[in-house]
Amino acid sequence: GLPALGVDVGGTKVAAGVVAPDGTVLETARRSTPTASVGETEAAVAEVVEELAGRHGGPLAAVGVGAAGWFDRAGDVVLFSPHLAWRHSSLRRDLAVRLQRPVWVGNDADAAAWAEYRFGAARGAELALCITLGTGIGGGIVADGRLQRGAHGVAGEWGHMRVVPDGRLCPCGNRGCWEQYASGSALATTARQVATRSPAAAARLLDRVHGDAARLSGEDVARAAAEGDPVALSLVSDVGEWLGQGIADLAAVLDPDVVVIGGGVSVLGEMVLRPARERLDRALPGRGFRPGPRVVGAALGAQAGLVGAADLARRVAPDPRPSP
Ligand code: BGC
Ligand code: ZN
Repeated sequence: GLPALGVDVGGTKVAAGVVAPDGTVLETARRSTPTASVGETEAAVAEVVEELAGRHGGPLAAVGVGAAGWFDRAGDVVLFSPHLAWRHSSLRRDLAVRLQRPVWVGNDADAAAWAEYRFGAARGAELALCITLGTGIGGGIVADGRLQRGAHGVAGEWGHMRVVPDGRLCPCGNRGCWEQYASGSALATTARQVATRSPAAAARLLDRVHGDAARLSGEDVARAAAEGDPVALSLVSDVGEWLGQGIADLAAVLDPDVVVIGGGVSVLGEMVLRPARERLDRALPGRGFRPGPRVVGAALGAQAGLVGAADLARRVAPDPRPSP
């Protein structure tokens, strides 16, 4: 089969890759996501596709776009996006017209879940959940070998479960959503608070942004944690605890055999996974009397979304060659 082109449109970055039918990423490109308007976001997607298709040169089966948005059941329209400007936008048609290629569009975390099921850490799973930790928290469900999208296409949006009554304001319009406590932006929010309140303790974090606490990003915290800064490490471990509690709650509802953690924050690996597993062990309802899920990092790392989008696109695209 031909390679397909996969794009992952997150709240911060657009990442794209040419992906072989066995899930191998042959070539990649990325840029930051313009968030101000639908037109700018879509133009950036089209540009990155054209750039990569040009560099690749050879034929492509299709283009798949996994985006941080809530899609209708048919997979044509972005109903809503907390982090981007899409509101009832006909993304699939817009891109197909611009690119003159077969296009699949869908949720970024659904695409990541599919990739991990097909090629990664959830292979062979009965019921796999994928939780992506990026700008927000994304969710995808694969059960009985199929992506589960719910009655209206928006299943798995557990980033917006309320975990703190009257908690932090979320861009979705509600307060206290899980993603406000366990994501890249959660890391940034808490880091800014700590750096403002305790600048001496947070000196190493503040060094990264020339003393301006407001400029701290999730990536700053992640890098500082990777270098062993104790304040950053404790912020990362807090995110892990919030993650583990949420997994315990999801296990109460869905009883998965495996939960795969992906997205940008998951590059921190055991720094996040260890506290998550510990919390899950303490919080799983019926613990000690029932099996719980395995919690593992995404085998495809931060590329899971683009790999899954490419694979899903290849499945729906008409095969240009006659069948044997
Ligand atoms: C959105 C999801 C998206 C996730 C990760 C969340 O805020 O609701 O649709 O998958 O962010 O990008
Ligand atoms: Zn929310």
